[in-house]
Amino acid sequence: MNLVLSGLPGVGKGTQAQRIVAKYSIPHISTGDMFRVAIKDQTSLGKEAKEYIDEGNLVPDEVTVGIIRERLNKDDCKKGFLLDGFPRTKAQAVALEQILTDLHQSIDYVINIDADQGELIERLTGRRVCRKCGFNYHIIFNAPELEDVCDKCGGELFQRIDDNEKKVRNRLEVNNKQQRLLLDYYKDKQYLLTIDGDQPIDNVFKNIDQHLQNISLAQQQI
Ligand SMILES: [Zn+2]
Repeated sequence: MNLVLSGLPGVGKGTQAQRIVAKYSIPHISTGDMFRVAIKDQTSLGKEAKEYIDEGNLVPDEVTVGIIRERLNKDDCKKGFLLDGFPRTKAQAVALEQILTDLHQSIDYVINIDADQGELIERLTGRRVCRKCGFNYHIIFNAPELEDVCDKCGGELFQRIDDNEKKVRNRLEVNNKQQRLLLDYYKDKQYLLTIDGDQPIDNVFKNIDQHLQNISLAQQQI
C-alpha cells in the first residue's frame, strides 16, 4: 500500500500517520526522519544534505529526491510506505512518479486531510508554553487550570512569536498555494482522497481506514 499524506499545518497529520502505519505495518517516511537516517548512514546524498542543513539552507530538490529514491529502494518499502512531508511541490510529485515507475510501483492514494482555515488558526494560535519548565498547553484542547499559569510549576505561560495569528496566517497561506497546485496534479491522476479533518480524530481515522481497507482487500486478491 503506497500512500502520500498531505495536509496543512495543524490538521493532525502526525496522529493520523501514526495510526495508519501501526495498522498497516508500513514504514512512516517523513522528510525529517529520512534526512536524519541518510546523514547517519553517511550516504553521499546524506553528506550533501548535511552541508545545506548545517549552513541553515534549504536542501535543494535534487538532493531531497535522491534521498527519497534511496529510501524507497530499501526492503522495508516493498510492501508499501506512507510518505509524509514529501512531495510538497508539483515538481517533486513528478520526480516521485519517476522513482516509482523505476521501481515498478505506483501510488494508491494521496490522502489529503482538509480542515477549515479558521479552525486551523484557532488550533495553531492556541498553544501556550511555560516560561519556567517549557511544558506545552493549548487554551482549548489542553488548558491549564488557571489561565496563563503552569499546572506543573506555577510558571507563567506565554505564546511563542511563531504562534501569533499573523505568523500563522502567513504560514498557512504560503503552504496553501503550493498545496493547491500539488493537489490539482494528483486530482487529475485520480489518486486524491480528501478527508474532512474538522471531525474528531477517531472519525478522521475511520474515514481514512475505510478507503485503505478497500485497497488492502484488492491487493490481497491479486
Ligand atoms: Zn511550568
